[in-house]
Amino acid sequence: MNQCENASIPNTFGMDVKARLFIEYYSLDELRQVLREHKGEPFLHIGQGSNLLFTKDFEGVILHSGMARARFIDDETVEAQNGLRLDDMIAQLTDMGYSGLEKLSLIPGEVGASAVQNVGAYGVEAKDVILRVNTINVETLEERVFTNEECRFGYRDSIFKHELKGKYIVTSVVYKVKPGEASKTREEIIQTRMAKLPAVGEVGSAGSFFMNPFVPQQQAGELLKRYPDMPHFPVEGGLVKIPAAWLIEQCGWKGKTLGGAQVWPKQPLVIVNADHATPEDIIDLADAISKSVKDKFGITISPEVNYI
Ligand SMILES: Cc1cc2nc3c(=O)[nH]c(=O)nc-3n(C[C@H](O)[C@H](O)[C@H](O)COP(=O)(O)OP(=O)(O)OC[C@H]3O[C@@H](n4cnc5c(N)ncnc54)[C@H](O)[C@@H]3O)c2cc1C
Repeated sequence: MNQCENASIPNTFGMDVKARLFIEYYSLDELRQVLREHKGEPFLHIGQGSNLLFTKDFEGVILHSGMARARFIDDETVEAQNGLRLDDMIAQLTDMGYSGLEKLSLIPGEVGASAVQNVGAYGVEAKDVILRVNTINVETLEERVFTNEECRFGYRDSIFKHELKGKYIVTSVVYKVKPGEASKTREEIIQTRMAKLPAVGEVGSAGSFFMNPFVPQQQAGELLKRYPDMPHFPVEGGLVKIPAAWLIEQCGWKGKTLGGAQVWPKQPLVIVNADHATPEDIIDLADAISKSVKDKFGITISPEVNYI
């Protein structure tokens, strides 16, 4: 394993933050050893740091997995280790003539977080292709397999973000795939995303900053009387999904800056680190956006990004 004190924490927002200790492990035995040796200390397991906003240095242990292999269990089942980049896996599967995950192409981040976050794009979510999730309990160090149902997946959500937050480390994820040509779809999605979203490594961001809100039908109906062009999508439970990007754009935020933070001109759901933004710049801009959406539409929008 690799250990480094006072180490910079990788994060796609480009925040300049340090961890008291950064540890990368390369096997389950090493992971167990780290958890045993650092029991009781504050810790955070990260992937690529592409959905995190670090607001200050982390006075604890940041854990990262260097395990990045995938293997076929059978013709339609792939197990991928937590530290493998999701897009690297999709690229490999596509090259090998397998389909199922191609709509998730180019989503940053690693396999472990794909399950924690239930990542999604273009009508597909990780939950649609995940069969089970293998974990280690950070207290008992025992392995536990979560079925898809037990993960209680929801919109950008899973049990690992709530009841079991910080209690289990996802060590590998088992996905279902099927033989099929996916390269055309993958290429189209890559082109669309590159045209719309800031490129990781070039512009700091954590992707969509806010989640799309769900409002009761009655509230949506009243809003539609005032804003007939408002995009809206009925979902389960008598709720209606309203795209947060539309709400933010209607409030005039597209391209606006506050300190070093900016609302991405091509996609107003994304806040970027345009010019040496501090965490406060990002938070102030996010708060100002939320407030104006609440004032104009009476809708609360919540961050998708995890503040640390
Ligand atoms: C440009 C850009 C575009 C994006 N587009 C999309 C998109 O289209 N759809 C989408 O859903 N998301 C999108 N995202 C968000 C991001 O890619 C996902 O949330 C991704 O799953 C984060 O992966 P990560 O490895 O970087 O996790 P991190 O950001 O490092 O961690 C995310 C959370 O998962 C936890 N975690 C990480 N690994 C483990 C593990 N092994 N075990 C337990 N907990 C763990 C962390 O503690 C944290 O709570 C985008 C981000 C960027 C920067």
